[in-house]
Amino acid sequence: ERASHSPKHIALYTPGGDEEHLREIQLIRDLSEAIRNRQLHLNYQPKVTMDTGSVVGVEALVRWHHPELGFISPEEFIPLAESSGQTLLLTELVMAMAAEDLRYWQSEGLDLKLAINLSALDLTNPGLPEKVQYYFQHLEGEMHRLTFEVTESAVMRDTGVALRTLENLRALGVTLSVDDFGTGHSSLAQLRQLPVQELKIDKSFVLNMDTEEQDQLIVKSTIDLAHGLQLRVCAEGIENHASWRMLRQWGCEQAQGFFMGRPMPAADLPDWAIRYEQWAREQGLSISGDT
Ligand code: C2E
Ligand code: MG
Ligand code: MG
Ligand code: MG
Repeated sequence: ERASHSPKHIALYTPGGDEEHLREIQLIRDLSEAIRNRQLHLNYQPKVTMDTGSVVGVEALVRWHHPELGFISPEEFIPLAESSGQTLLLTELVMAMAAEDLRYWQSEGLDLKLAINLSALDLTNPGLPEKVQYYFQHLEGEMHRLTFEVTESAVMRDTGVALRTLENLRALGVTLSVDDFGTGHSSLAQLRQLPVQELKIDKSFVLNMDTEEQDQLIVKSTIDLAHGLQLRVCAEGIENHASWRMLRQWGCEQAQGFFMGRPMPAADLPDWAIRYEQWAREQGLSISGDT
């Protein structure tokens, strides 16, 4: 079979490089159209407290269903948005859509906090705080309900500029969170200098912590470290009851994971919240926060 290919054909389909490159070019081109025509949408994953079992808020997670290629993971297209200079446009679209959904929940009687992920490049943009003010002006006086999640590597890439952007965001009254903690290379000294209030333990340590003792050790020490630095902890990637129980016992304040709730469309949240609070009551979690 192989031998029957013309040399030209073989050159086009050499493994790796070229096909991947063609996909990248297509995705970058189509992404710009998708941003302009709002073909992207948001799903929201709930964040809950561990002591009382109440729903604190949601994290916005961007979704792209490509007309031909189907579902494209943000892990694939966020880096492409960065390399093609489309980060700001994408972040603005996310903020605009999330602000709309926040208004919708409010009309349904749900006062949720909202977390938005920032790309590394967002932090190099001094105009970001102004955009945040623009899209969330209806939150005036309640800007603490807005959280921005930044990965530690994003901050470490360009500490000077990134730090200034974070400080300017913080000055608006928003909450700042270090995402994917444990996967980057920040030192404790650097972490201490960031104007952040929350630390999210990366899901790679949480996913299998019910059976992996190493992961338990990492998660528990990270919780202690965060508390030592006066930071609130959110664990992501809880997929089973055993992990949930351990985290609760170790004083982890907030949690996210498929066990409690998967990312879902904005319209599904009100019903999910009712079902979750029912479940939490059955667990004996309500109000007082036992053991
Ligand atoms: P992230 O911010 O750390 O988000 C958590 C990711 O873990 C999400 O994947 C979520 O669906 C997944 N996850 C949550 N709980 C569980 C669980 O229990 N088990 C498993 N297996 N996975 C869980 P997703 O939505 O594919 O997003 C991946 C990453 O893409 C995000 O990681 C974030 O870094 C980036 N991203 C997503 N939306 C945006 C956005 O609007 N802007 C930017 N800049 N980045 C975004
Ligand atoms: Mg996040
Ligand atoms: Mg994360
Ligand atoms: Mg992640």
